[in-house]
Amino acid sequence: MDIKKLKDQYKFCFSCASKLESKKGKVLICTNCGKNTYVDPSPTNGAIIENEKGEIMLVRRAKDPKKGYWDIPGGFINPGETAEESTIRELKEELGTTKVELEYLGTESDIYEYQGTAYPVLAFVFKAKINTENLYPADDVTQIKFFTPKDLPFDKIAFEGVKRALKKFIEKK
Ligand SMILES: [Zn+2]
Repeated sequence: MDIKKLKDQYKFCFSCASKLESKKGKVLICTNCGKNTYVDPSPTNGAIIENEKGEIMLVRRAKDPKKGYWDIPGGFINPGETAEESTIRELKEELGTTKVELEYLGTESDIYEYQGTAYPVLAFVFKAKINTENLYPADDVTQIKFFTPKDLPFDKIAFEGVKRALKKFIEKK
């Protein structure tokens, strides 16, 4: 991850709209009010879900970025939410499921490119147990499909961090 490239995207102070000057590491400082801006990753969540046959669920993205690509269910964490709460909310919104059990797997660092900006993100990845019958694609998702591990479409998966999470998950099985 190129921190200089990420910092170059930050031009103005969010408080007073004056120019920012690059400082050490991930810090930028306002040339007028002196307030610091930090290039921090945004937290996201993602869920790996298997059916009783050991197939893995992917969802097709309804919106940009990466519209039409495959992804695992998940999204950005809202202010005030825990990673667990946000994962459960996303699964309810995207899949129409009601009951969710989570097991924490780990994190993945990634870049989310949207509207010409590269956002650093940190994804909290969970294994989620849900009832895989009667699911329907909702909010942000056009299709739900289960893949055997060897048939996962890695060339059509939206994000590098998701690919890494899926590979780690398969290797541990
Ligand atoms: Zn300022």
